[in-house]
Amino acid sequence: MILPKFDYKKARTIEEALELYNKHDGNAFYLAGGTDLVPLIKLRLLQPKVIIDLKGIDGLKDIKKINNSLVVGPNITLFELKQNPFIKDYFPCLFESLEATSCKTLQMRGTIGGNILQNTRCLQYNKSLEWRTARGFCLKMGGKVCNVVPNSKSCFSNYCGDNAPSLMTIDAKAKLVSAKGERTVRLEKLFSEDGRSPFTIKPGEILKEIIIPLKKTKGAYEKLTVRGSIDYPLVGVAVTVKKDAAVVAVTGIGPSPHLYEIKEINEKSINEVADWAYEDARPVLNAVLTPLYRKKMVPVLIKRAFKRIGAGGGR
Ligand SMILES: Cc1cc2nc3c(=O)[nH]c(=O)nc-3n(C[C@H](O)[C@H](O)[C@H](O)COP(=O)(O)OP(=O)(O)OC[C@H]3O[C@@H](n4cnc5c(N)ncnc54)[C@H](O)[C@@H]3O)c2cc1C
Ligand code: SF4
Repeated sequence: MILPKFDYKKARTIEEALELYNKHDGNAFYLAGGTDLVPLIKLRLLQPKVIIDLKGIDGLKDIKKINNSLVVGPNITLFELKQNPFIKDYFPCLFESLEATSCKTLQMRGTIGGNILQNTRCLQYNKSLEWRTARGFCLKMGGKVCNVVPNSKSCFSNYCGDNAPSLMTIDAKAKLVSAKGERTVRLEKLFSEDGRSPFTIKPGEILKEIIIPLKKTKGAYEKLTVRGSIDYPLVGVAVTVKKDAAVVAVTGIGPSPHLYEIKEINEKSINEVADWAYEDARPVLNAVLTPLYRKKMVPVLIKRAFKRIGAGGGR
């Protein structure tokens, strides 16, 4: 599929990128690895006037230990991040989700910033313009109905990022910068829970840093896919254990990951969270497996992750 025409600008500093964005009245998109953005442009789901490449900005590619935190630049590729010694040692859940993301070729191109901010997906949305025109535009494309749940005013497209859920379980924060200054939010606050516009990031804001408290954890990531090679999560479950407590995040079954806390890990509390996550999961028929199967797999994957970690007597 051929790309439409747009201007390409390469920013050397964050200030330059913000200036370029403002100069184009917001009809611009930031580019990192392009593995999410470019297919959307090819499908005419996005029609930018200008693309602002962030890859030339040096400060966005660092990983630094600052005091008791690991500060990760958003332009670090998934592959580079996976190879950082702190990741495997301190955050096994994140290591496993990075490892489970697509294939090595994509990991070497795709960045962690782009991975977090990837758009939501739906079988009725990620299609060519011709296909969508014939079917009729849905809510996410500015239409009046959802083509999966016709009487609904909500969009149920799925957030299929593997790594934001893991980052949430290790208390990651996002530092955002705009012409108005900087703000730092917990990663879960980046999600709007609205499939039409899945992030709370403001127009033109740049993700500058991902800040992770440097505390050793145990963890695991479980992913349901139909293919063993490249595949998005049809359900993804991130579990991180810190002493007697645990945090669980579920992805792939709606516009935002769901987050759960366990104060004291034991068989009963794990079962309770698994039941709760099952009740919360409301997948619809917009992915390649049936909604009921995906829903039923949520508690299965939660228990499987705890079992692998060896926490809560699930050995
Ligand atoms: C074949 C294929 C398989 C895939 N499989 C998986 C998978 O298994 N798991 C998974 O999680 N993902 C998967 N992806 C999705 C995704 O493309 C990658 O995970 C990748 O990490 C996205 O990063 P990127 O740098 O290419 O993002 P880009 O495409 O460059 O950007 C994605 C979005 O983030 C925005 N953005 C990027 N950086 C910033 C920044 N610093 N500040 C503000 N906005 C920013 C862009 O404007 C864009 O909207 C897959 C993609 C493809 C094509
Ligand atoms: S869930 Fe409905 S509104 Fe959302 S992308 Fe799919 S068809 Fe469109």
